[in-house]
Amino acid sequence: MTTSWDRIERLLGASTLEHLKQQTVAIVGLGSGGGFVAESLAMSGVGRFILIDADTLQAANVVRHVCDRGDVGRPKVEAVADRIRARSPDAQITAINGRIEDHFNALDSVDLVVCGVDGERAKYLINRACLSRGLTAVYAGVYERGEGGDVVVIRPSDPASPCYACWADRLREGIPQPGTEDLDYGMIGPEGTLEAEPGLWLHVVRVAAAQADLALNELLRGTPAHVQMPGNTVILANRPLEVFTGHITPPYGAEWVTVARDPECLECGHPARLADSAESGESLDALMHDTGMPYEEADE
Ligand SMILES: [Zn+2]
Repeated sequence: MTTSWDRIERLLGASTLEHLKQQTVAIVGLGSGGGFVAESLAMSGVGRFILIDADTLQAANVVRHVCDRGDVGRPKVEAVADRIRARSPDAQITAINGRIEDHFNALDSVDLVVCGVDGERAKYLINRACLSRGLTAVYAGVYERGEGGDVVVIRPSDPASPCYACWADRLREGIPQPGTEDLDYGMIGPEGTLEAEPGLWLHVVRVAAAQADLALNELLRGTPAHVQMPGNTVILANRPLEVFTGHITPPYGAEWVTVARDPECLECGHPARLADSAESGESLDALMHDTGMPYEEADE
């Protein structure tokens, strides 16, 4: 039995579906989030995958992963590759059971990177690899206990886009500065979410679905199906969340912001080109005003 793409073709059009089948996405980290993104992109028509993860599926992963008990003990890249083939048997898949820092060359000829790792250090490494290759990358983070999360699209080809380092300097606390300590991949949990207080699968995949959707949208650039999003960052609430000071975003609500490139960023800063960029350390509220997002409309 072959897979019928009829429904997707009717939605996107034959030429756009063909475009997606030729696109190559690298997914780094195949935990709760990355595994879900991989399967979702396969089900959306994306045809080529490079999967990178060093871990095997543990029994404890099963309640928060697209793979199940039958896959325990298998490398996650192989288990997820089978999930993709079960949906899209013609997909071209390269499964790399190893650490990203040993396989950066796997990113040399991809169209997009999906970052499914937790650790900020690993995200910095991936950021650097993507900057040097001019590669767009989509990063996601799930907040403690799965109360919410965020997704950011980083586009080095856009002079206004932040890199992950300047983005994280605004929206993450306690980020380790690159080069100040040894990069320790052991810091990264085997899951796609924060290790300390993991959330439920259903809360993780809400963030992962946004990551998959924004990744797909990037792969659709140049086609009629591409959508201009209202910012480069979406913040999702699974529970009431004070995203902006004094304003509670209700469950299932979302806020968009645009984080500007930091001209002082050690990773991507380019003072001459970015003289008018916003100053570092700005609050989310200020970003909202910069973006002009009418978030009051969602205030219940
Ligand atoms: Zn930067």
